[in-house]
Amino acid sequence: MALLRAGFTWPAGHPAAGGLLPHHFTVAPDGSGAVSFLWHSPSGHPDWALPSALLCGARTFLGHVRPRPSGRLARRVYPLGLLTNGIRIEEIAPLMSRRLLLHAGGDGTSARPAVIEHLRGARRAVMIPYAQSDHDRATARFQEWLTPHGVEITGVHTASDPRAAIAEAEAIFVTGGNSFRLVSALHSLSLIDAVRSAIDSGIPYYGASAGANVACPTIRTTNDMPIVQPSSFAAFNLVPFQINPHYIDPPPPEARIGETREERLMEFLDENDVTVVALREQGWLEVDGPSMHLRGTGGAVLFRRGADPAEVAGGADLSSLLVETPRFDA
Ligand code: ASP
Repeated sequence: MALLRAGFTWPAGHPAAGGLLPHHFTVAPDGSGAVSFLWHSPSGHPDWALPSALLCGARTFLGHVRPRPSGRLARRVYPLGLLTNGIRIEEIAPLMSRRLLLHAGGDGTSARPAVIEHLRGARRAVMIPYAQSDHDRATARFQEWLTPHGVEITGVHTASDPRAAIAEAEAIFVTGGNSFRLVSALHSLSLIDAVRSAIDSGIPYYGASAGANVACPTIRTTNDMPIVQPSSFAAFNLVPFQINPHYIDPPPPEARIGETREERLMEFLDENDVTVVALREQGWLEVDGPSMHLRGTGGAVLFRRGADPAEVAGGADLSSLLVETPRFDA
């Protein structure tokens, strides 16, 4: 379980911790009828141990949380209400940690301030450029605008051990391009689990277009042509819904376009009971633990089985989509 990565709670019954931190969870009644607990949050930096494990819950035993030193990753404290609805703790634990920025692709300039904010001080980022054929170029495009912000971004293709590079990253970027080529490389380099556990440890993920597609359970709602044969369509599964990037509204009937994007997504829903967030250009999703919002100016359309497509405007709270259960081939 992810909680074990916090380090200081393992082995349970840490002798130096006294009575406060003997277990992975500490539950205590406080006499007012409310239940208080400590959640010893996992950290991507086990060497920081106690300082990087913040408390989470309705009440805590510590009255004051020190501001995070600059450059260090920090967690937010969420109200307990976001953790209920009958969801099991095993499902909530990774949800609490994930920080994702999933962009529709195209011109991402308007999202740059949000990307910097999303990094929250992370300095050493790793780029996964496999959706493109020119990996150096794909990485350089991000280096150009991130370097002046003090973010060092290296292509995972330059690492002698790509899995180790992912494990050491403070942030992960995945560029757009061809989703089949990308997912094929992710499987052949055994990076699916590596990235997923890095993200579950709390480091930020930025994915644009194909990079947003692979944050989903599968790449089944990509617009791309299958130019290569991946061993599987399964992707990082960081969110329980699908994304369709670069969404284009149906043209007027006089345009006589067969198979609009809407029709293709309806075909997906014939075969799968899974929500699809169709992101127009200049739109992106921000996931911060259990909350998710649509950002940018493009807006999005939600496709769900048995329902008409629903328009969603920038700023919308889409957190409820994070606790859906997708049913593929259903
Ligand atoms: N080819 C797109 C991209 O820019 C992905 C897609 O449209 O599904 O990454």
